[in-house]
Formats: sequence, C-alpha cells, structure tokens
Amino acid sequence: MNNTQITKIKALLSTPKNIVIVPHRNPDGDAMGSTLALYHYLKLHNHDATVIAPNDYPDFLKWLPGDDTVLKFESQQAESNLLIDKADIIFTLDFNAFHRAGHQMADVLEKSSAIKIMIDHHQQPDDYATFMYSDVNMSSTCEMVYNFIEMLSDTDKINATIATCLYVGIMTDTGSFRFPATTSKTHAVIGHLIDKGADNSQIHNNIYDTNSYSRLQLLGRAMQNLKVIPELRTAYITLSQAELDEFNFKKGDTEGFVNYALSLKGIIFAAIFIENKQDNIIKISLRSKGDFSVNEFSRAYFNGGGHTNAAGGRSEDDMQTTINKFISILPQYKQDLS
Ligand code: 5GP
Ligand code: MN
Repeated sequence: MNNTQITKIKALLSTPKNIVIVPHRNPDGDAMGSTLALYHYLKLHNHDATVIAPNDYPDFLKWLPGDDTVLKFESQQAESNLLIDKADIIFTLDFNAFHRAGHQMADVLEKSSAIKIMIDHHQQPDDYATFMYSDVNMSSTCEMVYNFIEMLSDTDKINATIATCLYVGIMTDTGSFRFPATTSKTHAVIGHLIDKGADNSQIHNNIYDTNSYSRLQLLGRAMQNLKVIPELRTAYITLSQAELDEFNFKKGDTEGFVNYALSLKGIIFAAIFIENKQDNIIKISLRSKGDFSVNEFSRAYFNGGGHTNAAGGRSEDDMQTTINKFISILPQYKQDLS
C-alpha cells in the first residue's frame, strides 16, 4: 500500500463510518482474529463496525473478545443484508475473491457499492478492492492488520483486547511460529503484542488445550487411516462421514490433523480428505514442505487454492473416486516429489 492510499484511508477513517468486516467462509483463527482485532480498533475511533462471518466457526475460537457481537450471514441474513446495504466501507480480511465468502454472501458483496478494503496474504487476488493490501509473503492477515494500524501511525491504540485477537491469528497461521513465513518481524510484532497485554500462554491453552475426548478419538481414527506413498514422499488421510458421525464430529475437530501426515520423516506432501454428506463434497486440505505448491495443485485439480505450503480444495466425486484421482495425478509431479 503506497503513501497516497494510506493518506486516503486516513481521511476516510477520520470521521465515523458504517463499516462491515468480513472473514472467509469457515473462518479460522487468522480470519476471526484479524476481523475482531480490526473491529475493536475501529470501535476505538467511534466507527459503527460489525463483523459478519459467512458462517459459523469452531468453539475453540468462541472465547475471542467480541465473539458475542459477530453476525453469521448464513443464519442471520436479514440483519446482515441491512448492515451491508448501509455500509460505507467493507473490509474483506484473510480472503481475496468474493466466492470465498460462499455463493450467497458473494452475490451481496458483489452488488454492494461500499468502498472495499482488502487485507490478505493469499495468492492470486481478484480485482475488486478500492484499496488492496495484499502480500503473499506475510505470515498471516493478523500480522498485516498490525502493519495496517502501524501505517495509520496508531500502534499506541493497540490494547490487550486487540493484541489478544492479533496474537491468535499469527499463532495459528504460523503453526505456533514454525512455518517459513515466520520472520524476525513476525516475532517483533508478537513481542509488541505481549507487551500490550496478550497472554501468550493462556491464548495457547484456549486454542490448543480444549480438546474433547471424542475429538482425540477421531484423531486416533484419522491416524489409523493414514496412508503413505514413500516413493512420492506423499501421505494422506481419509475420514468418511460415518467415521465423523461415530466420533460426534463438531466444526473444527479435524483442524490440524493433516499436519500429522506432514510430520512423517521424509514426507513433503500431505493431504486429508473429509467427506461432507450435507454438501455432497469431499473437503480437501493440502500441505507441503519446500517449493512444491499445493496452491497450484489445488487450483489445477481440486477447485481450490491458498498458499504455496497450505491450501484447500474440494471434490464432487465420492471418496474412492477422489482418492483414485489424487493418486493418479501424483506421478506427474515425480520430479518435485522425489
Ligand atoms: P485449510 O486446509 O486449513 O482449510 O486451508 C488452508 C489454506 O487454504 C487457508 O489459508 C485457506 O484460507 C485456504 N483455502 C482453504 N480452502 C480453500 C478453497 O476452497 N479455495 C481457496 N482459494 N482457498 C482455500
Ligand atoms: Mn490467514
């Protein structure tokens, strides 16, 4: 974002505005952390701001400060449409294409004449934003929201509430500060957030140490289903709808499972295939180490996208057909994977 754009945004935000803040569908820690941090920041400046999530998110994010103010478009359409209708500004955070908000919400965003501000770190952004802060090298949208507040010369305004929200997204999107996008600047930002009152140990506990017994049992089943293709340094996991039902699956329960496949010695490409009978799809999460781009892989074969080392996608075929397709594609990438 250049100085002229920052000056324009400063002017725009200098008087109270009606603002809607939107994360992507199936919001994760970075999506909810960044939108709620921005919400608290804008409230300090007397804006009328609301976070509207396309749909619900996991319980392990429901302790975030401001969670009780979040609207869910899917179940609160009338209220959401009213706010979007009268919005002067719509921030879209942690996504860069309207369809990532789901088809219904995408239509509404498309039709809105509000000024759009994108803050996002995914690849290949669409061209809808009036102001676009897009940087695929950033660890997380939360780190970018910190930078955004810094660009507005306003880091003094960051309080414990904002710091807590930002900490969550940086922590979750960096795999607790271990993924390659974690820089010394990321750690410097985290240091500031702790100084501002983010309780790092408590946040870690709230996100990662609130497992249900059934979730750990489901993890056990996922590990039993793990398959390895050593010659292509690939590992994958499947979970059928019947297995999810058996272990009383709740939203968010499979978060992070795919990382166990990637933790196998020598493995550089990991996938998890999760059946969703309600939507009649197989939801796919892909992870890699090094240069092999799961973003490109997902765009090419599974209607998805994301980052080089973490992407998602979907298949409308049944589980076995999807797995067969996945296995049949792999040899094309023999050079990258062996
Ligand atoms: P996850 O596998 O954890 O759902 O997602 C990994 C990354 O890919 C996240 O940054 C997420 O926003 C992105 N992602 C997940 N599913 C999709 C998808 O269907 N399309 C696109 N473009 N990105 C996705
Ligand atoms: Mn993110």
